[in-house]
Amino acid sequence: MSEVKKLKSYINGQFVDSNEYFDNINPVDGTLIAKVSEASPAMIEAAISGARAALTDEWGRLSVNERCALLHKVADRMAEREEEFIAAEIADTGKSLFQIKTIDIPRGTANFRFFADLARFNDGETFITETPSGDKALNYSVNKPLGVVAVISPWNLPLLLATWKVAPAMACGNSVILKPSEETSSTAVLLAEVMDEVGVPKGAFNLVLGRGKVVGDALTGAKGIDAVTFTGASNTGKQIMKSVAQSVKPISFELGGKNAAIVFADADLDKAIKGVTKSTFTNCGQVCLCTEKVFVHRSLFDRFVAGLKQAAQDIKIGYPLEKDVFIGPLVSKVHQQKVLSYYQLAKEEGATVVTGGGVPIFNDERDNGCFIEPTIITGLDDNARVNQEEIFGPICHISIFDEENEVIRRLNDTDYGLAASIWTENLSRAHRVAPQLDVGLVWVNTWFLRDLRAPFGGVKLSGIGREGGKHSLAFYSEPMNICINIEQA
Ligand code: NAD
Repeated sequence: MSEVKKLKSYINGQFVDSNEYFDNINPVDGTLIAKVSEASPAMIEAAISGARAALTDEWGRLSVNERCALLHKVADRMAEREEEFIAAEIADTGKSLFQIKTIDIPRGTANFRFFADLARFNDGETFITETPSGDKALNYSVNKPLGVVAVISPWNLPLLLATWKVAPAMACGNSVILKPSEETSSTAVLLAEVMDEVGVPKGAFNLVLGRGKVVGDALTGAKGIDAVTFTGASNTGKQIMKSVAQSVKPISFELGGKNAAIVFADADLDKAIKGVTKSTFTNCGQVCLCTEKVFVHRSLFDRFVAGLKQAAQDIKIGYPLEKDVFIGPLVSKVHQQKVLSYYQLAKEEGATVVTGGGVPIFNDERDNGCFIEPTIITGLDDNARVNQEEIFGPICHISIFDEENEVIRRLNDTDYGLAASIWTENLSRAHRVAPQLDVGLVWVNTWFLRDLRAPFGGVKLSGIGREGGKHSLAFYSEPMNICINIEQA
């Protein structure tokens, strides 16, 4: 029998493990993929001191151009090892090959290329200052790294979301300690291998594996961490905020959502059905931007519900490598139980189940996995718990609206504010409605179409701050003002 793979942390240029291991389970069939070594307090300390030392050591002495050239090498090596990244991400998440190949892994690699190119233009400002008393000065700013940045990332798009923060943080000259989700450590370990192979100086990139409440909490509260950037659930964000409050660190938070789509009377119905199918069911509903509520104009409601029902029933669920599979399982048994509890709650709150609502039966090893049916419900009030709480599964509730102002008010009536999509062929309506929505991102007649230069983030419980393009550079660097007196003759 082949030995079970052991996943180790990467600290100050070395792969190291502890005596504590937990299981990494394949959500397709419940089999053991690997044993993950949980970083001990001493290992976390070593990562922090290694990362601190790197700031003034070889890593800290690299010029911007040298640093960015190195990050391009990281991307090149990731591309060379793409098949391994794909296999590792599939094993951890059970996602379809198509999605991993077109989204997760290439976008992970692209993050390094994009931010390596952008950071070269992270220019400061200059001002000639003249005072009423006749003084004159040159004021300029230089962008310095924040220091040691803790990156805490989730399981839903593991490599993509970790690199979305690691790449700009490193491009700005910070040293990084990445703590990926305990559900999905594998591609983070491959990334550490790549960093090592291309010669990233020791301490610049560190990886600590383990559970959030243990390793994540120890990291965010530790002295020696200068900033925390986090993607994950809003409740975890609240805990991290308490933990960092002791030392007043900068934070960037990309949190949960309860995103809605609006289908106006003037929408192209086929386009809207296709779009909402994608926005609700992609990645088995496990994208923070996924739609969980759909408001449809009364004139289209019956046709829309019938069309989305058909589309949901046509979705092929199955093995990641199977042809035409659109969705795989949820990430874990724990998450499957959470989503199923919301399916149950929907029934208790009085919903009509249009389709789905349970677990598909395969009569093979997949019945040990974490699969779930794409589900559509109707008939609940806006204030039902199912319409207010983030479920993070392949489910949407569809309701009727009549007036534009009414639907804007109802969409905004939530504690979350991440994303929305609107479906209309009326350009004036699109421009009028989009800015009135209390979210960080509105898509019109599309969904999940992202430009890395555009600001990304949420309002209310969905996050603090913006990342993307120059917004990432602004978070991961600290402008310092230097004022030089210009002596007057
Ligand atoms: P999670 O909050 O449970 O975990 C995210 C990360 O935080 C993991 O690495 C986890 O180990 C760690 N963690 C957990 N408790 C911690 C603590 N007390 N201190 C420090 N770290 C801790 O989230 P998840 O279940 O992995 O991901 C799903 C959630 O992430 C959803 O709510 C989703 O909407 C959100 N999300 C948001 C975005 C966005 O861009 N806004 C993107 C993806 C996912």
